[in-house]
Amino acid sequence: MNKIKEIASKTGIRDIGFCSFEQIKPYLLDCRAKQRLPKNSKTVILFLFPYKVKEQRPDKISRYAAVPDYHKICGKYLKKIKDNLKQEFPENEFEFFLDNSPVPEVYAAACAGLGVKGENGLLISPKWGSWCFIGEIVTDLEIRCENHFKKCSLCGDCKKACPTGDLEVKCLSALSQQKKDLETREKDLLKQNNIIWGCDLCAESCPLNKNAELTYIKEFISGYRNSFVSGEDITGRAYEWRGEKTVLRNSNLFNE
Ligand code: SF4
Ligand code: SF4
Repeated sequence: MNKIKEIASKTGIRDIGFCSFEQIKPYLLDCRAKQRLPKNSKTVILFLFPYKVKEQRPDKISRYAAVPDYHKICGKYLKKIKDNLKQEFPENEFEFFLDNSPVPEVYAAACAGLGVKGENGLLISPKWGSWCFIGEIVTDLEIRCENHFKKCSLCGDCKKACPTGDLEVKCLSALSQQKKDLETREKDLLKQNNIIWGCDLCAESCPLNKNAELTYIKEFISGYRNSFVSGEDITGRAYEWRGEKTVLRNSNLFNE
């Protein structure tokens, strides 16, 4: 375990935990990425990538959208760690996953002791709060791990802060990413809650996020943008995958 931590931390990534594959096996998600799992998978090595750059919230976009697309940044770190592990343990298999993963990432990271599972469905780290992405490497290398799974205090503040409450509309973060035209009520909700992309209101209200520390990951710091500006180059941003039209549509709500 120490050797793996040593190899991984050489890339600069600080939060590393371990979860047995047996622990997550009943909850594996059905996706194409499942085919990449090593035969005889034994261990999931979990990593956190904190992304809170400033204390103040960005303007009308989620914190995760204020930093460059994490798939590219975290993927680069995970690939490097995977290659280094393979060099050290050539007999073993290592596969990395990020977001598009058969691993139930929040559950696995909580089992690994990297944080607690929040009522809002997010992992909450004692250091970074819920402002962290999760990535993992699955291997057939056997490492003894204990299960540290815990839930948050269930205080309910996140539920109270959610503007959709009892309304029959979907999460505003999902709504902001919806390609299909928005109904008038949906547009109003985005506008009333100052949303161009993402939402975060539940996470912002969480007391466990109050003292979350700022990230050390240089790519997130240097690539930070406080807001979406019409006409900006969206290459490498969190909203690139959806295309400019959707984010522009939301942004234009504030010009109406
Ligand atoms: S606001 Fe309370 S209930 Fe919600 S995730 Fe945070 S600690 Fe848990
Ligand atoms: S992201 Fe916003 S709309 Fe979605 S659950 Fe959280 S507070 Fe509610």
